[in-house]
Amino acid sequence: MTIFYKFEGKLYINITNGCPCKCVFCIRDNADSIKDNDSLWLEHEPSFEEITAAFDVFDKSGMTDAVFCGYGEPCVRADMIVRVAEYIKQHSDMRIRLNTNGLVKLIHRDFDINSFRGVIDSVSISLNAPDACRYNEVTRPSFGEKSFDVMLKFAEDMKQIVPTVGFTVVDIISEEEIQRCHALADSMGIPLRVRHYVTDNESYT
Ligand code: SF4
Repeated sequence: MTIFYKFEGKLYINITNGCPCKCVFCIRDNADSIKDNDSLWLEHEPSFEEITAAFDVFDKSGMTDAVFCGYGEPCVRADMIVRVAEYIKQHSDMRIRLNTNGLVKLIHRDFDINSFRGVIDSVSISLNAPDACRYNEVTRPSFGEKSFDVMLKFAEDMKQIVPTVGFTVVDIISEEEIQRCHALADSMGIPLRVRHYVTDNESYT
């Protein structure tokens, strides 16, 4: 079972295959893993003990960054992110990034995002689209159109909690829509990175 894997020199963390979205660009629809790593489909959601045991034995030489990402939305297990991030901070000097769809407050209404303070160093949020209507078409969240505003509020709130917040968008939307995403991100003071859509398993961050 692949909980930790190496991708572009970083330690990636795969703690759940759960996700409330069905993004049109999701790599999970095209491949079972990233590059030459083993399948990222988990036999079960790993316990804290299984995760920390896997962390302890993983060859982390030369790695300075850990990323909660994997084959699912990490915030499906938001409490576990905090526990594991605390463990990694206690046992290494790694910087920790969270890649997320930004919908944790819809997934877990009572989760306190202040729990990320001090354990998550940066968060990368999938903006995906310039407005709620297109967001719904691209991301296909089970929560419907309110998701877009909840994601934006999460991004705004996280600016007060973690040192670095960024947005991403995949270039499956039009150039005009990407420009509107840039304008929206700029208005929020959050940098936007445009990701190139891939259909193979060579890249997915
Ligand atoms: S949020 Fe991530 S895991 Fe979920 S469908 Fe979208 S790309 Fe896939």
